Amino acid sequence: MKTVDAINFAGKKALVRVDFNVPLDKKTLEITDDARIKATIPTIKKILNDGGSCILMSHLGRPLKKLKEDGSLDIEKHTLKHTVSRTAELTGATVHFADDCLGEEAAALSNNLQPGEILILENLRFYKEEEKGDPGFAERLSKYGDVYVNDAFGTAHRAHASTAVIAQFFPGAKCFGYVMAKEVANAKKVMNETVRPFTAITGGAKVSDKLLILENLIDKVDNLIIGGGMAYTFLKAMGYEIGSSLCEEDRLSLCLSLIDKAKAKGVNLMLPVDSVVADAFSNEANAKVCDNKQIESGWMGLDIGPAAAHDYANVIKQSKTILWNGPMGVFEMSSFENGTKQVAIAVAEATENGAFSLIGGGDSAAAVAKFGFENKVSYVSTGGGALLEYFEGKELPGIQAILTN
Ligand code: AMP
Repeated sequence: MKTVDAINFAGKKALVRVDFNVPLDKKTLEITDDARIKATIPTIKKILNDGGSCILMSHLGRPLKKLKEDGSLDIEKHTLKHTVSRTAELTGATVHFADDCLGEEAAALSNNLQPGEILILENLRFYKEEEKGDPGFAERLSKYGDVYVNDAFGTAHRAHASTAVIAQFFPGAKCFGYVMAKEVANAKKVMNETVRPFTAITGGAKVSDKLLILENLIDKVDNLIIGGGMAYTFLKAMGYEIGSSLCEEDRLSLCLSLIDKAKAKGVNLMLPVDSVVADAFSNEANAKVCDNKQIESGWMGLDIGPAAAHDYANVIKQSKTILWNGPMGVFEMSSFENGTKQVAIAVAEATENGAFSLIGGGDSAAAVAKFGFENKVSYVSTGGGALLEYFEGKELPGIQAILTN
């Protein structure tokens, strides 16, 4: 992959698509987690240290979906101005801000930008053309920079103007930032440089969200561990009583075909043998452990049980490549966190013994962080949807756009 290391930015203006989609405090509008800004600082510093300047463009939230009551843009909640001072602190550079990502002000600020300086453009999603992937919009943005750098892995699965379409206006002058390169290298390590046994752990609420990834992984893994709410649709399909556990009735036959496919390929598909069941979806509900063959009516499985956690941990500890997506239960509630925690402990132990472990896709990253295991696994992806699509076997437009010409 061609990264910023392949380019000397001296005297050049780099137009960098970053992921500054940071969470803001609802009342004060202060940044509550600056991890996404921090992640991209090495890319920015490389460009500035070379003697180049950076024009940063990003989205923040979904401003066109969250209009004010009078139908106008809620600029205060979605302005990238919130990221200016943090970027200045983390880089030590002078940071300018353009109130509009298009227009005379942005053009003048970028024209006058000095080596070592940064310009942040206002939220790209104030224009509908961004998400539509409008080529005219992309071309206007492209005028600001000499080189295009994509460092926004979180949006790499979207063919938006700034993430993919714009790359065509930089023939021979485009590359990946470090965040993007690291994410792709780690995902590739799991998929293409797999050391066996390879175990995929999937969980979370719904089978339907994970269908494509399950189908794709069955061709690649030795063990496929299934937990979380999605396990109950499998159990129901196998003829078990699941009480009022989550179930997607329209996916029953698909679960059976996945089970058959795993058998035919010699994949060890594991479903939980027991559950922690509760009589309500609440941390304070009555709860007990029960065998998964007979969950009583009125009870719902909210976590894998101790025997299942034990089975899963044994397999995980013997694995050399681990991909984990989705919690084993309602880990947000302390009564139902144990299964996810036991899996996290096993993944950490396997990693200590030399396995490569990649955690990714929304809630599993949050779970690993909740139990303090971020530094005990090989890599926690920031990618969410982009990572899932990668493991579904799809080409990501944000990556393809850099690789072509
Ligand atoms: P996902 O975004 O699909 O990975 O789903 C994550 C969510 O699934 C988390 O918020 C969990 O609380 C929830 N979840 C996990 N296990 C269960 C379960 N057995 N029943 C209901 N929700 C669950």
